[in-house]
Amino acid sequence: MRGEPVELACPFCDKGIILCWHIPSSISQKNRSSATFGKVREKVRNPDVWLIQSGCSVCKKSAEEVEKELRKKNII
Ligand SMILES: [Zn+2]
Repeated sequence: MRGEPVELACPFCDKGIILCWHIPSSISQKNRSSATFGKVREKVRNPDVWLIQSGCSVCKKSAEEVEKELRKKNII
């Protein structure tokens, strides 16, 4: 699996460590047939993916709550 493990500070208490898996955005190519242009190569951009693997062990927030807060603060 692509990606890398990342440790983020808890967005609630700033003391806990949240374990995440980060898969950076990538460009993949798709071959598509078009009636006008024949075979067309289409570039598809895959967005960043963040998988939150744990909640906070300090303030006991769940992984879901942490993910929501991180997205709200534009950290992920
Ligand atoms: Zn916390």
